[in-house]
Amino acid sequence: MDISENLAMLRQQIENASLASGRNPDDVTLIGVSKTIDSARINQSLAYGLKDFGENRVQELLDKYDQVENVRWHMIGQLQRNKVKYIVNKVSMIHSLDRLSLAREINRQADKINRVVPVLVQVNPANEESKSGLPYDEVIPFIETIYNLKNIKVMGLMLIAPMVEDNETIRPYFTMMKQLFDGIKQDNYPHIEMKHLSMGMSNDFETAIEEGSTMVRIGTAIFGKR
Ligand SMILES: *Cc1c(COP(=O)(O)O)cnc(C)c1O
Repeated sequence: MDISENLAMLRQQIENASLASGRNPDDVTLIGVSKTIDSARINQSLAYGLKDFGENRVQELLDKYDQVENVRWHMIGQLQRNKVKYIVNKVSMIHSLDRLSLAREINRQADKINRVVPVLVQVNPANEESKSGLPYDEVIPFIETIYNLKNIKVMGLMLIAPMVEDNETIRPYFTMMKQLFDGIKQDNYPHIEMKHLSMGMSNDFETAIEEGSTMVRIGTAIFGKR
């Protein structure tokens, strides 16, 4: 597997999907999902312009944090409250905010270091039991509960779509997410800035981009099978 070729192809596909849906390819940030990939390979990928990386485990992120420099780390996996303190000064965004107790803990730890941490609210519109994330209907009430926590900044929503053979069957979830996102944006809550829709992985990023994704989280299509 050649990271440079994979990235070149992926960037072309991102550009095509963006242009085909009347969007600017620059509005889609590529996050390389580096879980299980060692620091040497991550460092290799820096040569090809990758700047954002996603990890789903705190310990793994911490190990790599010291070995990979000048990149932005995104926490994309389920996050336990007692681990927030280890990453609060290291991540550029937490994509997996899914409950009030976690919001409060991120806020508390961020307050201690005088930082405002950008967060995305994870949504589970298919109500899949295997996945975390708030049911669709609970997202707005949740945001209304947390937007005034001063040391977190809600910047959008995150979705992990169900795995399917035919992406057309999950397109409605992406569309729903975009509608929810736009609705919240229009409501102009103080202190929140709806800017990002983190959706799309190796197998569904083109559909996600067509429906408005601004952050695609891609592992396999860059680094190969895990
Ligand atoms: C693993 C993972 C990805 C990337 O999955 P690929 O199919 O390898 O692109 C994206 N988002 C989350 C939350 C993940 O855990």
